[in-house]
Amino acid sequence: MNHPTFPAYPDPCGFNALLPPRQPKAEARGDITADYVIIGAGYTGLAAARRLAELKPQARIVVIEATEVGEGSSGRNSGFASPRDVPASSSAAELTRAEALNRQTEEGWAWLMAPIEQHNIDCGLQASGRIKAAATDLGAQQVRALEAAVKAAGLPHEVWDRHTLKARIGTSYYQCGLYTEDGYLLDPAALIRGLAETLPGNVTLHENTPLLAMQRQDKWFLETPSARITAPCVIMATNAAIRHFGRLRDRLVTMYTYAALSEPLNAKDAAQFGSMPVWGLLPSHRLGTTVRRFGPDRLLVRSMYAHERPIPAAHVRATLLSCFHRRYPGLAHVGLDQVWGGTTALTMNGAPWWGQVEGGLYTSAGCNGAGIVKGSILGKRLAELVLGQCSQDEVRALWGLANWVAPEPFRSIGFGFIAARERRRAGLEA
Ligand SMILES: Cc1cc2nc3c(=O)[nH]c(=O)nc-3n(C[C@H](O)[C@H](O)[C@H](O)COP(=O)(O)OP(=O)(O)OC[C@H]3O[C@@H](n4cnc5c(N)ncnc54)[C@H](O)[C@@H]3O)c2cc1C
Repeated sequence: MNHPTFPAYPDPCGFNALLPPRQPKAEARGDITADYVIIGAGYTGLAAARRLAELKPQARIVVIEATEVGEGSSGRNSGFASPRDVPASSSAAELTRAEALNRQTEEGWAWLMAPIEQHNIDCGLQASGRIKAAATDLGAQQVRALEAAVKAAGLPHEVWDRHTLKARIGTSYYQCGLYTEDGYLLDPAALIRGLAETLPGNVTLHENTPLLAMQRQDKWFLETPSARITAPCVIMATNAAIRHFGRLRDRLVTMYTYAALSEPLNAKDAAQFGSMPVWGLLPSHRLGTTVRRFGPDRLLVRSMYAHERPIPAAHVRATLLSCFHRRYPGLAHVGLDQVWGGTTALTMNGAPWWGQVEGGLYTSAGCNGAGIVKGSILGKRLAELVLGQCSQDEVRALWGLANWVAPEPFRSIGFGFIAARERRRAGLEA
């Protein structure tokens, strides 16, 4: 379901639904004047808000969120986060690039961890390592290439065969998997709620407050259903939804993807998830299925992609159930408890669009499906850019900048073609 200015979903976020009810912050009402307004209370928006508040403790900072915290994609994701990413290949150029980006990622991780530790945010954060697994011969080749890259980068790792995977994660679905140590799992809805509840005192958050329209005269004038907000500086942290305001339409693409949590299992059934109490598995193919344990007794599956339009709910449920049961045929009697979708913003070259859009308007968008840590560092940097404390050129040189995407109808035709080809290649990885 698409709202004119923000993504609205038919199903509640499954992680959020399992948490105790929470009182959303009041909707914005009347005339409001601020120094900085941030649109969107996801990882990017809240990271920017905290950094602005830290650097400008006297400033009035307002965050508006279209829905309720925990119901956006920041609560809807699979909860994989890592202080370091593995390089994509073993070429010297890629190793250097990955090393430089990892310095940023580590800073983003530290920025995310600080409030978690300071306020004891209970988000189920657990060190899990990360398994990149292959169910097909093509996937196995990719795992071997990744192993070479990890080895070249000097990162601790292990390659697991089918039997080891069966023992550790309980399924013989995969031929092989590359285990690396740098990986954490968390409950994303609990985390984003915790971050929103512990914002600094000079940040005011309004929920159920969608931005409807914006225009600039000497300042920005923002219209929401019940308020008119005036500020000299606006940070759009809405990911691809910035396109609803006529910006970056030729840079960002909205992708829908889907997740489900199994019903809670009894101890005998949960033993089928293998000997490791915590694990998360990413597919070797980008259209493949992600699987992780969630708590002691549930499994999460994330799969399926759709360009710009959601997939019908019955098809989503049936496909995710099949992904689960194909991997765990011994659990064919266990159903899905929560099923939901979310959006993420893709760019053609995998780089974010980051920086100043026009006078007094800034954004970071195009998380490419990995926004927990990336959103945290790029949101923090954006606040620094706003205050003249970092160089736009340097950040863009490091991360790249989202390049041009063809307009409709070429875009949909192109994506349809690529998706069909990649689905065939993904095969059993899906
Ligand atoms: C199913 C799924 C699984 C994923 N798994 C992972 C994972 O394991 N690890 C990972 O790192 N990433 C994952 N991602 C991607 C991750 O969720 C995103 O990268 C991340 O949420 C981006 O954060 P953000 O703050 O930039 O944007 P968002 O989380 O999208 O936040 C933007 C916010 O802006 C609000 N908004 C939009 N328009 C308006 C408006 N007009 N007015 C006011 N507010 C508005 C939205 O409601 C939203 O809350 C996954 C995504 C999905 C959908």
